[in-house]
Amino acid sequence: MNPTTLPTRHRFATAVVAVVLSFCIAPATHAEAQGMENVQIRTQQVADGVYMLMGQGGNIGVSVGDDGVFIIDDQFAPLTDKILAAIAAITDEPVRFVFNTHWHGDHTGGNENMGEAGALIVAHDNVRERMSTEQVLERIGRPVSTTPASPAGALPVITFSEDVSFHINGGQLHAFHVSNAHTDGDAIVHLVEANVVHMGDTFFRGRFPFIDTASGGSIDGLIDAVGDALAVMDPDTRIIPGHGDLSSRSDLQEYGDALKAMRGAVASLMTRGLSLAQIQAQRPIRAHAETWGQDRAAEDGFVATIHHGLGG
Ligand SMILES: [Zn+2]
Repeated sequence: MNPTTLPTRHRFATAVVAVVLSFCIAPATHAEAQGMENVQIRTQQVADGVYMLMGQGGNIGVSVGDDGVFIIDDQFAPLTDKILAAIAAITDEPVRFVFNTHWHGDHTGGNENMGEAGALIVAHDNVRERMSTEQVLERIGRPVSTTPASPAGALPVITFSEDVSFHINGGQLHAFHVSNAHTDGDAIVHLVEANVVHMGDTFFRGRFPFIDTASGGSIDGLIDAVGDALAVMDPDTRIIPGHGDLSSRSDLQEYGDALKAMRGAVASLMTRGLSLAQIQAQRPIRAHAETWGQDRAAEDGFVATIHHGLGG
Protein backbone atom coordinates (compact mmCIF):
# COMPACT_ATOMS: atom_id res chain seq x y z
CA MET A 1 0.00 0.00 0.00
CA ASN A 2 1.20 3.48 -0.80
CA PRO A 3 -0.43 5.82 1.74
CA THR A 4 0.44 8.93 -0.25
CA THR A 5 -2.28 8.04 -2.77
CA LEU A 6 -4.98 8.22 -0.12
CA PRO A 7 -7.00 11.40 -0.43
CA THR A 8 -7.84 12.46 3.10
CA ARG A 9 -6.12 12.71 6.43
CA HIS A 10 -8.75 10.47 7.98
CA ARG A 11 -8.22 7.68 5.49
CA PHE A 12 -4.51 8.18 5.85
CA ALA A 13 -4.61 7.55 9.58
CA THR A 14 -6.97 4.61 9.18
CA ALA A 15 -4.67 3.03 6.63
CA VAL A 16 -1.69 3.35 8.90
CA VAL A 17 -3.53 1.75 11.80
CA ALA A 18 -4.67 -1.06 9.51
CA VAL A 19 -1.11 -1.72 8.39
CA VAL A 20 0.14 -1.80 11.95
CA LEU A 21 -2.64 -4.14 13.00
CA SER A 22 -2.18 -6.52 10.12
CA PHE A 23 1.55 -6.79 10.68
CA CYS A 24 1.68 -6.94 14.43
CA ILE A 25 -1.29 -8.27 16.21
CA ALA A 26 -4.28 -9.28 14.20
CA PRO A 27 -5.36 -12.91 14.09
CA ALA A 28 -6.05 -14.33 10.66
CA THR A 29 -9.54 -13.22 9.80
CA HIS A 30 -11.40 -14.92 6.97
CA ALA A 31 -10.57 -12.08 4.59
CA GLU A 32 -6.90 -12.18 5.49
CA ALA A 33 -6.83 -15.95 5.10
CA GLN A 34 -8.18 -15.58 1.57
CA GLY A 35 -5.60 -12.92 0.84
CA MET A 36 -2.87 -15.29 1.94
CA GLU A 37 -3.33 -17.51 -1.09
CA ASN A 38 -0.79 -15.35 -2.86
CA VAL A 39 1.71 -15.09 -0.03
CA GLN A 40 5.10 -16.55 -0.88
CA ILE A 41 7.47 -17.79 1.79
CA ARG A 42 11.02 -16.54 1.14
CA THR A 43 13.92 -18.41 2.73
CA GLN A 44 17.16 -16.69 3.65
CA GLN A 45 20.15 -18.50 5.15
CA VAL A 46 21.38 -16.70 8.26
CA ALA A 47 24.17 -19.03 9.47
CA ASP A 48 25.14 -22.69 9.26
CA GLY A 49 21.88 -24.57 9.89
CA VAL A 50 19.90 -21.38 10.60
CA TYR A 51 17.40 -19.73 8.29
CA MET A 52 14.89 -16.90 8.29
CA LEU A 53 11.51 -17.35 6.60
CA MET A 54 9.58 -14.27 5.53
CA GLY A 55 5.97 -14.52 4.44
CA GLN A 56 3.18 -12.54 6.10
CA GLY A 57 3.42 -11.75 9.78
CA GLY A 58 6.42 -12.10 12.04
CA ASN A 59 9.71 -13.38 10.68
CA ILE A 60 10.29 -17.08 11.38
CA GLY A 61 13.65 -18.37 12.62
CA VAL A 62 14.54 -21.97 11.75
CA SER A 63 17.28 -24.17 13.22
CA VAL A 64 17.88 -27.43 11.37
CA GLY A 65 20.12 -30.40 12.12
CA ASP A 66 20.21 -34.09 12.94
CA ASP A 67 17.94 -33.67 15.96
CA GLY A 68 15.13 -32.11 13.96
CA VAL A 69 13.72 -28.69 13.26
CA PHE A 70 13.20 -25.92 15.81
CA ILE A 71 11.21 -22.91 14.63
CA ILE A 72 10.70 -19.55 16.26
CA ASP A 73 7.19 -18.21 15.56
CA ASP A 74 4.82 -19.57 12.91
CA GLN A 75 2.86 -16.68 11.30
CA PHE A 76 -0.78 -17.42 10.35
CA ALA A 77 -2.66 -20.74 10.17
CA PRO A 78 -3.44 -20.50 6.41
CA LEU A 79 0.32 -20.33 5.74
CA THR A 80 1.30 -23.52 7.61
CA ASP A 81 1.46 -25.72 4.51
CA LYS A 82 3.65 -23.21 2.71
CA ILE A 83 5.89 -22.80 5.75
CA LEU A 84 6.28 -26.58 6.05
CA ALA A 85 7.05 -26.79 2.32
CA ALA A 86 9.74 -24.12 2.71
CA ILE A 87 11.25 -26.11 5.60
CA ALA A 88 11.03 -29.36 3.60
CA ALA A 89 13.13 -27.67 0.92
CA ILE A 90 15.89 -27.29 3.55
CA THR A 91 15.65 -30.59 5.45
CA ASP A 92 13.75 -33.90 5.66
CA GLU A 93 13.59 -33.66 9.46
CA PRO A 94 10.25 -32.94 11.20
CA VAL A 95 9.43 -29.78 13.19
CA ARG A 96 9.95 -30.83 16.80
CA PHE A 97 9.63 -27.49 18.55
CA VAL A 98 7.76 -24.25 17.96
CA PHE A 99 8.86 -21.37 20.14
CA ASN A 100 6.57 -18.32 20.37
CA THR A 101 8.29 -14.98 21.03
CA HIS A 102 4.94 -13.54 22.27
CA TRP A 103 1.19 -14.14 21.95
CA HIS A 104 0.23 -12.02 18.90
CA GLY A 105 -1.61 -13.88 16.15
CA ASP A 106 0.92 -13.13 13.43
CA HIS A 107 3.50 -15.08 15.47
CA THR A 108 1.31 -17.87 16.93
CA GLY A 109 -1.37 -18.39 14.26
CA GLY A 110 0.17 -21.63 13.02
CA ASN A 111 0.44 -23.20 16.49
CA GLU A 112 -2.57 -25.49 16.27
CA ASN A 113 -1.48 -26.89 12.89
CA MET A 114 2.10 -27.33 14.03
CA GLY A 115 0.99 -29.01 17.25
CA GLU A 116 -1.22 -31.43 15.30
CA ALA A 117 1.80 -32.22 13.13
CA GLY A 118 3.70 -33.26 16.26
CA ALA A 119 5.59 -30.17 17.39
CA LEU A 120 5.88 -29.15 21.04
CA ILE A 121 4.95 -25.50 21.57
CA VAL A 122 7.00 -23.49 24.04
CA ALA A 123 6.55 -19.92 25.29
CA HIS A 124 6.66 -17.63 28.29
CA ASP A 125 3.97 -18.21 30.97
CA ASN A 126 2.15 -15.02 29.99
CA VAL A 127 1.84 -16.13 26.35
CA ARG A 128 -0.20 -19.17 27.38
CA GLU A 129 -2.20 -17.06 29.81
CA ARG A 130 -3.11 -14.41 27.23
CA MET A 131 -3.86 -16.95 24.49
CA SER A 132 -6.18 -18.77 26.91
CA THR A 133 -8.55 -15.83 27.22
CA GLU A 134 -10.06 -13.14 25.01
CA GLN A 135 -7.70 -10.21 24.52
CA VAL A 136 -8.81 -6.65 23.85
CA LEU A 137 -6.26 -4.71 21.88
CA GLU A 138 -5.83 -1.03 22.60
CA ARG A 139 -4.00 1.72 20.85
CA ILE A 140 -2.93 4.46 23.20
CA GLY A 141 -5.50 3.48 25.78
CA ARG A 142 -8.41 3.03 23.35
CA PRO A 143 -9.79 -0.43 22.52
CA VAL A 144 -9.55 -1.19 18.79
CA SER A 145 -10.07 -4.93 18.38
CA THR A 146 -10.74 -8.17 20.20
CA THR A 147 -8.92 -11.47 19.78
CA PRO A 148 -10.85 -14.54 20.93
CA ALA A 149 -9.24 -17.18 23.14
CA SER A 150 -7.17 -19.69 21.16
CA PRO A 151 -8.23 -23.34 20.93
CA ALA A 152 -6.55 -25.69 23.40
CA GLY A 153 -4.41 -27.23 20.68
CA ALA A 154 -2.81 -23.87 19.91
CA LEU A 155 -1.61 -23.22 23.45
CA PRO A 156 2.00 -23.67 24.49
CA VAL A 157 2.46 -27.00 26.30
CA ILE A 158 5.74 -25.98 27.93
CA THR A 159 6.02 -22.58 29.58
CA PHE A 160 8.71 -20.80 31.57
CA SER A 161 9.06 -17.67 33.67
CA GLU A 162 12.64 -16.43 33.19
CA ASP A 163 14.56 -18.46 30.65
CA VAL A 164 14.93 -21.88 29.07
CA SER A 165 17.63 -23.63 27.05
CA PHE A 166 17.32 -26.21 24.27
CA HIS A 167 20.30 -28.42 23.53
CA ILE A 168 19.75 -29.65 20.02
CA ASN A 169 21.46 -29.80 16.66
CA GLY A 170 24.87 -29.58 18.28
CA GLY A 171 24.26 -26.25 19.97
CA GLN A 172 22.32 -24.27 22.55
CA LEU A 173 19.26 -22.11 21.97
CA HIS A 174 18.84 -19.89 25.00
CA ALA A 175 15.49 -18.12 25.25
CA PHE A 176 15.19 -15.40 27.88
CA HIS A 177 12.22 -13.34 29.00
CA VAL A 178 12.33 -9.54 28.80
CA SER A 179 9.61 -7.96 30.89
CA ASN A 180 7.00 -5.44 29.75
CA ALA A 181 8.58 -4.60 26.39
CA HIS A 182 6.39 -5.22 23.30
CA THR A 183 4.05 -7.23 25.58
CA ASP A 184 4.38 -8.85 29.02
CA GLY A 185 5.36 -12.22 27.55
CA ASP A 186 8.25 -11.45 25.22
CA ALA A 187 11.23 -13.74 24.87
CA ILE A 188 14.42 -13.24 22.88
CA VAL A 189 16.08 -16.35 21.47
CA HIS A 190 19.87 -16.59 21.31
CA LEU A 191 21.23 -19.34 19.09
CA VAL A 192 24.55 -19.34 20.86
CA GLU A 193 26.97 -21.25 18.60
CA ALA A 194 25.34 -19.95 15.43
CA ASN A 195 25.67 -16.39 16.78
CA VAL A 196 22.11 -15.48 15.78
CA VAL A 197 19.44 -13.72 17.86
CA HIS A 198 15.70 -13.70 17.12
CA MET A 199 14.29 -10.55 18.70
CA GLY A 200 10.56 -11.17 18.26
CA ASP A 201 8.70 -7.88 18.16
CA THR A 202 11.12 -6.14 20.50
CA PHE A 203 12.80 -5.09 17.23
CA PHE A 204 10.98 -3.59 14.25
CA ARG A 205 13.70 -2.84 11.73
CA GLY A 206 13.48 0.62 10.16
CA ARG A 207 10.24 1.88 11.59
CA PHE A 208 8.50 2.90 14.78
CA PRO A 209 7.87 -0.08 17.05
CA PHE A 210 4.41 -1.13 18.08
CA ILE A 211 4.09 -1.31 21.86
CA ASP A 212 1.07 -3.31 23.01
CA THR A 213 0.32 -1.41 26.19
CA ALA A 214 -2.89 -3.39 26.82
CA SER A 215 -0.71 -6.53 26.97
CA GLY A 216 1.73 -4.94 29.39
CA GLY A 217 4.17 -3.44 26.88
CA SER A 218 6.08 -0.25 27.70
CA ILE A 219 8.68 2.04 26.15
CA ASP A 220 11.03 1.60 29.11
CA GLY A 221 10.73 -2.19 28.93
CA LEU A 222 11.42 -2.07 25.21
CA ILE A 223 14.57 -0.01 25.75
CA ASP A 224 15.73 -2.45 28.45
CA ALA A 225 15.00 -5.44 26.19
CA VAL A 226 17.20 -4.03 23.44
CA GLY A 227 19.96 -3.48 26.00
CA ASP A 228 19.65 -7.07 27.28
CA ALA A 229 19.86 -8.41 23.73
CA LEU A 230 22.87 -6.26 22.82
CA ALA A 231 24.65 -7.63 25.89
CA VAL A 232 24.71 -11.19 24.49
CA MET A 233 25.90 -10.12 21.03
CA ASP A 234 29.21 -9.40 19.38
CA PRO A 235 29.84 -7.34 16.22
CA ASP A 236 29.28 -10.41 14.00
CA THR A 237 25.92 -11.43 15.48
CA ARG A 238 23.12 -11.70 12.93
CA ILE A 239 19.71 -10.54 14.08
CA ILE A 240 16.27 -11.68 12.99
CA PRO A 241 13.86 -8.84 13.80
CA GLY A 242 10.16 -9.51 14.42
CA HIS A 243 9.46 -7.50 11.28
CA GLY A 244 11.90 -6.26 8.67
CA ASP A 245 15.15 -7.41 7.11
CA LEU A 246 17.96 -9.44 8.61
CA SER A 247 20.05 -7.06 10.72
CA SER A 248 23.38 -6.56 12.45
CA ARG A 249 24.29 -5.58 15.98
CA SER A 250 24.96 -2.02 14.85
CA ASP A 251 21.44 -1.85 13.36
CA LEU A 252 20.00 -2.87 16.73
CA GLN A 253 22.28 -0.44 18.56
CA GLU A 254 21.00 2.40 16.34
CA TYR A 255 17.41 1.36 17.02
CA GLY A 256 18.04 1.26 20.78
CA ASP A 257 19.67 4.70 20.66
CA ALA A 258 16.70 6.01 18.67
CA LEU A 259 14.24 4.65 21.24
CA LYS A 260 16.15 6.36 24.06
CA ALA A 261 16.38 9.65 22.17
CA MET A 262 12.66 9.64 21.33
CA ARG A 263 11.70 8.77 24.90
CA GLY A 264 13.94 11.55 26.21
CA ALA A 265 12.56 14.15 23.79
CA VAL A 266 8.95 13.42 24.75
CA ALA A 267 9.75 13.17 28.47
CA SER A 268 11.43 16.57 28.52
CA LEU A 269 8.39 18.25 26.95
CA MET A 270 6.14 16.47 29.46
CA THR A 271 8.31 17.86 32.26
CA ARG A 272 7.56 21.36 30.94
CA GLY A 273 3.85 20.69 31.40
CA LEU A 274 2.84 20.48 27.74
CA SER A 275 -0.28 18.52 26.75
CA LEU A 276 -0.06 15.59 24.34
CA ALA A 277 -1.40 17.76 21.50
CA GLN A 278 1.16 20.46 22.25
CA ILE A 279 3.95 17.88 22.33
CA GLN A 280 2.82 16.40 19.02
CA ALA A 281 2.74 19.91 17.51
CA GLN A 282 6.39 20.42 18.49
CA ARG A 283 7.32 17.25 16.56
CA PRO A 284 10.02 15.99 18.95
CA ILE A 285 10.63 12.76 16.98
CA ARG A 286 10.35 14.26 13.49
CA ALA A 287 13.97 13.38 12.58
CA HIS A 288 13.35 9.69 13.30
CA ALA A 289 10.13 9.70 11.30
CA GLU A 290 12.03 11.18 8.35
CA THR A 291 14.92 8.72 8.70
CA TRP A 292 12.49 5.81 8.62
CA GLY A 293 10.21 7.31 5.97
CA GLN A 294 7.23 7.30 8.34
CA ASP A 295 4.27 9.61 7.87
CA ARG A 296 2.87 12.19 10.28
CA ALA A 297 0.15 9.88 11.59
CA ALA A 298 2.74 7.26 12.58
CA GLU A 299 4.91 9.98 14.11
CA ASP A 300 2.05 11.41 16.18
CA GLY A 301 0.98 7.90 17.12
CA PHE A 302 4.38 7.00 18.48
CA VAL A 303 4.61 10.26 20.42
CA ALA A 304 1.27 9.32 21.97
CA THR A 305 2.54 5.81 22.77
CA ILE A 306 5.58 7.20 24.57
CA HIS A 307 3.44 9.82 26.34
CA HIS A 308 0.98 7.13 27.45
CA GLY A 309 3.84 4.86 28.57
CA LEU A 310 5.31 7.63 30.71
CA GLY A 311 2.05 8.10 32.52
CA GLY A 312 0.73 11.00 30.43
ZN1 LIG B 1 3.65 -8.48 18.08
